[in-house]
Amino acid sequence: MKYVSTRGRAPALSFEEAMLSGLARDGGLYVPESVPQMSAGDIRALHGLSYEETAFRVMRPFLGDTFDDATLGDLIARAYAPFGHGARAPLVQLAPGHFLLELFHGPTLAFKDFAMQLIGQFFEEALTRRGTRVTIVGATSGDTGSAAIEAFRGLDAVDVFILYPHGRVSEVQRRQMTTPDETNVHAVAIDGHFDDAQARLKDMFNDFGFRDEVRLAGVNSINWARVLAQVVYFFSAAVSLGAPDRAVSFTVPTGNFGDIFAGYIARRMGLPIARLVIATNQNDILHRAMTGGDYRTGTVAPSISPSMDIQVSSNFERALFDAYGRDGGAVAQLMDELKTGGGFAISQGALQALREHFASGRVSEEETSAMIARAHAQMGELLCPHSAVGVKVAEEQRDPAVPMVTLATAHPAKFPDAVEAATGLRPALPERMADLFARPERITRAENDLSALETLIRERIRK
Ligand SMILES: *Cc1c(COP(=O)(O)O)cnc(C)c1O
Repeated sequence: MKYVSTRGRAPALSFEEAMLSGLARDGGLYVPESVPQMSAGDIRALHGLSYEETAFRVMRPFLGDTFDDATLGDLIARAYAPFGHGARAPLVQLAPGHFLLELFHGPTLAFKDFAMQLIGQFFEEALTRRGTRVTIVGATSGDTGSAAIEAFRGLDAVDVFILYPHGRVSEVQRRQMTTPDETNVHAVAIDGHFDDAQARLKDMFNDFGFRDEVRLAGVNSINWARVLAQVVYFFSAAVSLGAPDRAVSFTVPTGNFGDIFAGYIARRMGLPIARLVIATNQNDILHRAMTGGDYRTGTVAPSISPSMDIQVSSNFERALFDAYGRDGGAVAQLMDELKTGGGFAISQGALQALREHFASGRVSEEETSAMIARAHAQMGELLCPHSAVGVKVAEEQRDPAVPMVTLATAHPAKFPDAVEAATGLRPALPERMADLFARPERITRAENDLSALETLIRERIRK
């Protein structure tokens, strides 16, 4: 199994190489050369398996010879052991035919733990075997960073730097990043928005001298290994609801297009997914692109679902690559237009291809709050604002004949202000992290400037 770049000008890599490098050297994202297929029989055989066993069977064909079977089984077991729920990704019912996939039982209470916990184990194993170390730099709107710090804290083979927009993450998110006291993890607050943090991260990866000097590695949602880890719960949920003998639809609250792209891969593997619905908040570049064919950045409007407050949706490039018939040159040209002109028009053919796979909806701030209140009053669920965006769009787009699964991407206690404003109830943190507000914080402030950030990293990495 080889991985190729969406911009067509970087060498094809193995799973291990693609995972360790993150972004391709031509600026593109790695995707599998071809998508392994699971037959109806293979999918039926997942009935009754644990989450870990399902993960093994879904991911195995993507990994080539990176890990042998016994090692892979161990790494998966270690990744999900810290979760606070035996099912890992339990389904609860909201209404007739509408289900919520709770992806917030991991150590930092958001779905990103599913991928990050696994990547932590994969990196440690692969690097130890190679006898080498790397520097991981990530940009976060809050949840990626806390999940990464949690997954990598204390590991020998890795130093971790997480760039987050100062003052624009929730207090729970910030504390999850700033309270771990291991010397290999660093939370860096930069001036600006998430898109600024992400832009500096990309600049750093494109500075090949620095990239090689500190052996830079990325774990943002552009890392293929993360997308792959997220494919698993589309299978576990659909199988619980009767796949492959019954089709299931999914609605995914999304910003960076990572989670929904994982659903697309599940479908390409053979999982019968009827509809795959993109749910955005008021930062709706994806919804505008899908409806009008124009992918154009605006300014970020901070919302009560901050983990989706972005304008450049990195993983969308992977969907474009397929929609343009895997023409890396065409994708590279679009990305140039995006960089120089702030956007591009999607060709008619590509737009049609995208619409075959994805529907979309957009939810305003008022609708998000109203949804949180109504879910509490009528469905017995406290939703985080991101999940509420999903549930709202799912209700609008649902076909009553097909079960709809909405992904609940974070625990309500991670965004308590928005939940309290909508319901009057302040959701409590699970007991295992009840002392979060009592732990001392370590914060580093930095300018939104490439060379300042590179200097900081050089000084702090363990030699
Ligand atoms: C990251 C995140 C999202 C968006 O996920 P993408 O993969 O970037 O689309 C949605 N909700 C929450 C809570 C998140 O942390």
